Amino acid sequence: MASVYQQLKEALAHEPAFRLRQIQAAWFDEHVHGYSEISTLPVGLREALAAFPWMSVVTHTLLISKQDNTRKALLKLGDGQYIETVIMGRRSLKVTDATGALDRYTICVSSQAGCPMRCVFCATGKQGFKRNLSAQEIVDQYRFSTDILRPEGARVANMVFMGQGEPLLNYQNVKEATKILLANTDLGETKITVSTAGVPSVMEQVLTDDFPPVRWAISLHSAIEESRKEIMPSNKPGFLEFLVKWANTYHVRFPSRTHFIGLEYIMLGGVNDDEAHLQALIALARRMPHIRINLIPYNSISDEPVDNKTIFARTSSERIEYWHATLMNAGFTSTIRYSQGQDIAAACGQLKNTAQV
Ligand code: SAH
Repeated sequence: MASVYQQLKEALAHEPAFRLRQIQAAWFDEHVHGYSEISTLPVGLREALAAFPWMSVVTHTLLISKQDNTRKALLKLGDGQYIETVIMGRRSLKVTDATGALDRYTICVSSQAGCPMRCVFCATGKQGFKRNLSAQEIVDQYRFSTDILRPEGARVANMVFMGQGEPLLNYQNVKEATKILLANTDLGETKITVSTAGVPSVMEQVLTDDFPPVRWAISLHSAIEESRKEIMPSNKPGFLEFLVKWANTYHVRFPSRTHFIGLEYIMLGGVNDDEAHLQALIALARRMPHIRINLIPYNSISDEPVDNKTIFARTSSERIEYWHATLMNAGFTSTIRYSQGQDIAAACGQLKNTAQV
């Protein structure tokens, strides 16, 4: 079924191409509150557009973390599906940079309602896959966040596709949304990160087509293929070798220093955090140019089934520090992701529409 946004585009089929661009620009104009207010459009077109939602996501629940001001929104879509968007707060609430600029937030957006990848450590996969989001539904998570932050004198400075869903399984809409955001907001290409569990055929496309040169993060989680397959059932045989080739080609295409590839590594006690896994990660990473390794402490996901395979322990912080130091000594840039919003289940892997009733 065509999305509502697709229908909007079809309604413009006989209009000049710039009409759609005018409409998209108006979405981001804080002084315009509906299609009827877009003064650059002919009156007849404004009336025809009244049938379409100005905002395709509606707040169902907004949770605010007492720990760090992270906000998690459960958003309802036009067809009754739900997604989550996280506005990541900071421990210090009033931060201005050297230039006196406003508070800057990172938003974590969803690309699908639910997710078909079924990574065993992630809550989103457990609720199954509902559908792809339209480009407008993706863009509207940014607009929704801006509406929340603007009255606070704050703004969205970074956006990561690390909410619900696998962005590469909704490639065309993620691409279109990214282009709309780049054209109409002050987000630059290095301020948007697409995170993927790895879909080789689509990763190939990224290297050759017109996907904007944003940043990429690969959810690696194991550099030993057998154990990766166990925790990420979507892993295609030969993925690690593919990844090495992909990363090398990527850096020929995007040689800029700002285009490093992020490797995400969630640390699961006794599963992927032993010495063999560390050495395998180092060996793999040595073959990939310009990467950064992000170690992620595991965030527990509630209502885990009583099935030993899917209950994980968090790797001790000493061991995470040891991995971090070893990676740094081996010459890699490595960070540890300190999770935010855990008290409202807004941290990585915890997005599963909990506030939904
Ligand atoms: N499907 C894409 C986008 C979702 S990103 C991808 O997999 O990259 C979700 C991020 O949260 C990934 O880095 C993932 O590894 C991480 N994550 C998932 N479950 C987690 C958990 N329980 N604790 C910590 N991080 C988790």
